[in-house]
Amino acid sequence: MLFVSTRGQSPAVGLSAAIAAGLAPDGGLYVPQALPAARTLQAGANLAATASELLAPFFAGDGLQDELAAICGSAFDFPAPLLPLATAGDHVLELFHGPTAAFKDFGARFLAQCLSRLPRPAGQPLTIVVATSGDTGAAVAAAFHQVPGLEVVVLYPDGRVSPRQAHQLGCLGDNIHTYKVAGSFDDCQAMAKQALADTALQAHKPLSSANSISLGRLLPQMAYYAHTALAHQAATGRPLNLVVPTGNLGNAMAAVLARALGVPLGRIALATNANAVLPAFFAGGDYAPAASVATLANAMDVGAPSNFERLQWLYGGDVSVLRGQFIARSVDDAQIQAVIARRYREQGEVFCPHTACAVAVLEQLRNEGIAQAGQDWAVAATAHPAKFEAVVEPLIGRELAVPPALAALLARPAHAEPLAAAYAALREQLQG
Ligand SMILES: *Cc1c(COP(=O)(O)O)cnc(C)c1O
Repeated sequence: MLFVSTRGQSPAVGLSAAIAAGLAPDGGLYVPQALPAARTLQAGANLAATASELLAPFFAGDGLQDELAAICGSAFDFPAPLLPLATAGDHVLELFHGPTAAFKDFGARFLAQCLSRLPRPAGQPLTIVVATSGDTGAAVAAAFHQVPGLEVVVLYPDGRVSPRQAHQLGCLGDNIHTYKVAGSFDDCQAMAKQALADTALQAHKPLSSANSISLGRLLPQMAYYAHTALAHQAATGRPLNLVVPTGNLGNAMAAVLARALGVPLGRIALATNANAVLPAFFAGGDYAPAASVATLANAMDVGAPSNFERLQWLYGGDVSVLRGQFIARSVDDAQIQAVIARRYREQGEVFCPHTACAVAVLEQLRNEGIAQAGQDWAVAATAHPAKFEAVVEPLIGRELAVPPALAALLARPAHAEPLAAAYAALREQLQG
């Protein structure tokens, strides 16, 4: 399979090249030149087997083709269980059983396994530069830790991530190099971008990125939807409908792609926080990216959802067709707090602030009859509530147990090197 840019100005490339590049040279996002036809799929023995089967057409003809099963085996070594909620027909798809207790572990681990297998001159590691406001960097650092042939440089804004997040970023060591930058997240991102554009530096120090627009993170996210929906249909005869907490639209886009490939998913509803660019568009407004506003669901504080270009591509640029396909709703901080507190009080259910957006939207859809009685719906639970204990614990009035994988990370000593918010400072480190 070949991949082209959503902006149409870059040559078609194979999967390995698209994964290595991240962004296409024309600034667009890589998409398949032609989507494989929808086919009848069967859930494999486990998540890794389903992933391998679903992703095979995307790897056909690429150098990584024969490695696909091994990549999936290494990346998908933790479960994504679908559990019933108290309301009849409602479920939660728990995507937080990986090393950093968020769904980004799936994509980051798959990307690391792909990148480590790309051919490279002997003895020359590939260095991944990541700017993070918290969650992404932690998933990438954990996924790439001790993977042969890869080095990681993490930049985070000093004092502007939670103490628990800072700890996760700095506790790995070995091939993970963590810098606390005396500046904002935007400074970190600007420094990373400058490094990735520095061809003189890259002549002797090859660099790459691991951000959420990479195909190597998007494609594997289809796997948990496929495995779950296929198993659900085999057990009940019914498709599964979804509500996905949405920021950059990577997770939801994976569900949309999986459905296009024949996975038995019904409707896909998008739940955003107060950053309501997508709900405004789907309600009939123009697509109007805006500066992001800070919310309690901070991993979704996105004012310009990068994967929107892929959604437009999938629907052939026809806005009215695209609009008809989705429900998208915005949930503000007061609603997030209310739903977390009430669901705990009434049902004993605990959700992270991001998942709570999806729970609030599913409640609305049930109340309005859009999610009909007899239909099965699932909210994608994107993070474990204990990752956002400062928000969740006061609302439910008790402490949350930290999941074992995350607790193991938090038990390690952590260290981050201070770095000035200037590209020259980063360049010196990269050269050294
Ligand atoms: C990144 C993230 C999201 C948003 O996912 P997108 O793919 O950017 O839409 C939602 N919840 C959590 C916990 C996240 O870390």
